Amino acid sequence: MLVVMQEGASEAQTEAVIGRLVEMGFNVHRSTGVRHTVLGGVGPMDDFDPAVLEVLAGVKECHRIVSPYKLASRNWNPAGTVIRIGTVEIGGSRVVSMGGPCSVESREQIELIAASVAAAGAQIIRGGAFKPRSSPYSFQGMGEEGLRIMRSAADQHHLLVVSEVMDHLQIPLLLQYSDILQVGARNMQNFNLLRELGKTRQPILLKRGIAATIEELLLSAEYIMSGGNYQVMLCERGIRTFETSTRNTMDISAIPVLKRLTHLPVIADPSHGTGKRDYVLPMARAAVAAGADGLIVEVHPDPDHAASDGAQTLRPEQFADMMEQVRAIAGAIGRVA
Ligand code: PEP
Ligand code: MN
Repeated sequence: MLVVMQEGASEAQTEAVIGRLVEMGFNVHRSTGVRHTVLGGVGPMDDFDPAVLEVLAGVKECHRIVSPYKLASRNWNPAGTVIRIGTVEIGGSRVVSMGGPCSVESREQIELIAASVAAAGAQIIRGGAFKPRSSPYSFQGMGEEGLRIMRSAADQHHLLVVSEVMDHLQIPLLLQYSDILQVGARNMQNFNLLRELGKTRQPILLKRGIAATIEELLLSAEYIMSGGNYQVMLCERGIRTFETSTRNTMDISAIPVLKRLTHLPVIADPSHGTGKRDYVLPMARAAVAAGADGLIVEVHPDPDHAASDGAQTLRPEQFADMMEQVRAIAGAIGRVA
């Protein structure tokens, strides 16, 4: 249930409507927009007459949200969510860029990458300190030491940090070092983890599962949002199909579909989306042309010797070239990058 308050409705009127929704058994989420306050009532009662609420003082209109996800639905915030972290806005007119290695490997590696992605115009450094690897014998990440290295390199270059949280027990540690917490594809439906992230107020980058539908991705976002954390961005990172020429099939069409269905910012990951370095640049261009609010791309000074995902990783100069081309695409569709 969505209740849009009139422009200039008083706080007392809004409180009265909240009280009525609570009485009716709804869990109420509040969004204060520039003009209107919107109240989202989430609850079991979807089959009652919205007119009951429409007659209350200060109410402009009332709608039933029919999609299975409510807070993630575009109706909840038609203007679109902008996540602000310091001076960086994700979901605004600027296409944001995140670059960095698949795994944090050493201080030297991260310092070099931080300097090069910052110089290329990226706002955020990525890097995994906890790695979800298909094999238990593969490199599993540097843990806290890796996070510490990323934080200090990021601070030196005025970058934000995005890093993966694999388990709810790691949340406090990630909160100390990382501005954005990444939920990896393999954890998209780890509902305990999503619920725990919903209790934080830290921005979350939620990656689409390797075999997840768009609706399942949005329901996973809803898990986080239903806890009161509305700072969620979604990431298209390719899905598993019958195609074997690429590691995954980069679902570019998911970008405009998500932009229609949800108000949450959409990020594209052409590195995992293709698995091959040569395809990262064209897919980055395509993603921005399709309306992505940001890119997350793997970068390493020596990709052929990277601890993980080297084949899909760009060298710093390739990343800089990508940024330049993406800027041209963004300009062509009335955005900046
Ligand atoms: C990663 O970002 O390095 C990663 C493991 O991504 P995904 O969860 O999309 O596979
Ligand atoms: Mn990776």
